[in-house]
Amino acid sequence: MRGKFNLPWSAAVSLDAAMAYTHIIGIAEAVVNSKVGNVGNATPLVADARPMIDPFQRAISYLRVSVTDRCDFRCTYCMAENMNFLPKKDLLTLEELNRLCSAFIAKGVRKLRLTGGEPLVRKNIMYLVRELGKQIGSGLDELTLTTNGSQLSRFADELYDCGVRRINVSLDTLDPDKFRQITRWGDFAKVMEGIEAAQKAGLKIKLNAVALKDFNDVEMPEMIRFAHGRGMDLTVIETMPMGEIEEDRTDRYLPLSKLRADLERNFTMSETGYRTGGPARYVEVKETGGRLGFITPMTHNFCESCNRVRLTCTGTLYMCLGQNDAADLRATIRATEDNALLFAAIDEAISRKPKGHDFIIDRTHNRPAVARHMSVTGG
Ligand code: SF4
Repeated sequence: MRGKFNLPWSAAVSLDAAMAYTHIIGIAEAVVNSKVGNVGNATPLVADARPMIDPFQRAISYLRVSVTDRCDFRCTYCMAENMNFLPKKDLLTLEELNRLCSAFIAKGVRKLRLTGGEPLVRKNIMYLVRELGKQIGSGLDELTLTTNGSQLSRFADELYDCGVRRINVSLDTLDPDKFRQITRWGDFAKVMEGIEAAQKAGLKIKLNAVALKDFNDVEMPEMIRFAHGRGMDLTVIETMPMGEIEEDRTDRYLPLSKLRADLERNFTMSETGYRTGGPARYVEVKETGGRLGFITPMTHNFCESCNRVRLTCTGTLYMCLGQNDAADLRATIRATEDNALLFAAIDEAISRKPKGHDFIIDRTHNRPAVARHMSVTGG
């Protein structure tokens, strides 16, 4: 889902490495003791499940998993209108995804986010959600997802039943015509219904909006009031240069420092230490009593405290959203049922996690710094 594109993401948050290490050791021991996470015929996820500490002493505790590259929208900043999606044989099955995710949980992942594409358009996706939900409290602290909201009215109750408590919904505008323009195929009313159904089911929602110059910048005050008036946080995201699309990115690039300065004419914002385990920095808005987050991959380097890695629906592990280096875990899991070998492949990948990204958008380099679409990596 949106959350993607050019979205930032990735980077992340901080954990005190020593504390995280201790916690992860605890989780690994719990897994050893309970044998939680033994999936299919694979060997138990027990021994060798060492915590993942990268070369810069960052503990990896957050996994984002793109369960599909498909989506029922075609947001202009994310996808071309005619996309070539991956052939089915390249995709991990839901059982394979479960095995991989469980291996990461055994190795210290405490927060797992399902993304896409749009995760809820993958057939039988609730099987995976239910299986992973069983691990909440046995290593996993939180299972969540990022969605475009189109399928929420169908799945909200079941998501809650599986243990999901918070979700991110991507929404860039409150104007139905502009919504259709930016998503090409999206139905604004359906998304509003989905948000309502999710809140009714008890899911806490954070709205994510990509800040786009001359598109939704003027709407931001209204979006803040809309979100906060319904008990939702709102996070605005600077665009990121990922994936070949048809637009000129520099035309839409809006530095959040400028957006924030504009908003401060209408709102009183005070810094808060609130964090969700993601890269957003939050302020409290006095007039609404709600929280507003900023994710600024282009103007602020948030890599120092990165605690996350990304797994694609083909089993490729990206250690950094803004770099092309990756590890093919599909080859490993299709070659062996031995989880010790899988753990070793993960360790080898984590040992290659770079210090940070180098995104650039400017007129002379008007091409993506990373050519894959965010819908492949999952935002
Ligand atoms: S994944 Fe879908 S909803 Fe999300 S930004 Fe891309 S096209 Fe839009």
